[in-house]
Amino acid sequence: MSYRPFMVAGPCSAESEQQVMDCALALKHAGIDIFRAGLWKPRTSPDTFAGVGAQGLAWLKRVQSETDIKVATEIATAEHLLLCLDNDITHLWIGARTCANPFMLQQIAEAIKLSGRAAELCVMVKNPIHPDLAAWLGAIERLQQAGVGRIMAVHRGFSDSVSSSVESRNNGMRNDPLWSIPLSLKRRMPHLPILCDPSHLSGDRYLVARISQQALDLGMDGLMIEVHPVPEKALSDAKQQITPDEFKVLVDSLHLPSAQNHEFTALQALRNEIDRIDSSIWNLIEERLEVAKQIGDIKHKAGMPVYQNQRYSQLLQARLSWAQNVGLEEKPVRQIIEAIHELAISKQLK
Ligand code: PEP
Ligand code: MN
Repeated sequence: MSYRPFMVAGPCSAESEQQVMDCALALKHAGIDIFRAGLWKPRTSPDTFAGVGAQGLAWLKRVQSETDIKVATEIATAEHLLLCLDNDITHLWIGARTCANPFMLQQIAEAIKLSGRAAELCVMVKNPIHPDLAAWLGAIERLQQAGVGRIMAVHRGFSDSVSSSVESRNNGMRNDPLWSIPLSLKRRMPHLPILCDPSHLSGDRYLVARISQQALDLGMDGLMIEVHPVPEKALSDAKQQITPDEFKVLVDSLHLPSAQNHEFTALQALRNEIDRIDSSIWNLIEERLEVAKQIGDIKHKAGMPVYQNQRYSQLLQARLSWAQNVGLEEKPVRQIIEAIHELAISKQLK
């Protein structure tokens, strides 16, 4: 038996009543769980479309009553929350920029408590723009403490300050996926559903299907995908939105991991193998640290500094070129070498 991923889809921004109605009706037939449309858009540049604001609430309300699908929009302030509640919009999301701001989150959480309607709410919490698991957890905990009825996390990747070079480093994607962060969140909060937002993660409509599949393969519980009736005319995020027809094709193409694992025996054998290899890696790291300590003793006796820039640069370059020769990605390899070096340095400082 396959499980069915939870599906949230809709345009980046609500642009007109017609646009949201057309999009929602087309998506109804694709069997989505929640329709999304942003009213207040947190844009990086002040010269870009900032959303239609409160005037779109009536459109979203109409979508809800005519399609019988719950509609979600982004809230960034307590005022947004109250406007949504007044219009029976109880499905909301916290954007990446707001998630990183504990003051805003606290105000929103207080307003939820005061409204007396916490149990009716479903709030999806996007990861903060920077890779800060503690901030993501903190935002979720504030909403839990406010008594929100249903909370889900949304992984949308992490920004970097130099966006042009980021795209090339991240295989052409707008954001860095850093999958280990949502996976850590899953370990910390095993019952919290986590959706993936491949649209903002990739910033590119041609990558949305591939990332959706990767997310499901990694055990994510669902997807939030930007869908627009005419993506190239979208007022925001035009490059990453797909049409309702493309959305249907994508959903049909998804390969759903099976809940019952028929390959369990083979898997268990390979997992044992991984455990054995990890234990050897660990022994080797210990052995390496012991040698580093002996080097440290010699440095101390000779009055040499513990950290020697030239030696470290040479070592790093050599290890990176080994990794390159076997086709490994540079960034995680660099992180491994840096972490091992940090362990060695702290051993030598002791
Ligand atoms: C969005 O979902 O339209 C949005 C602005 O997303 P994020 O907060 O992930 O950038
Ligand atoms: Mn968007």
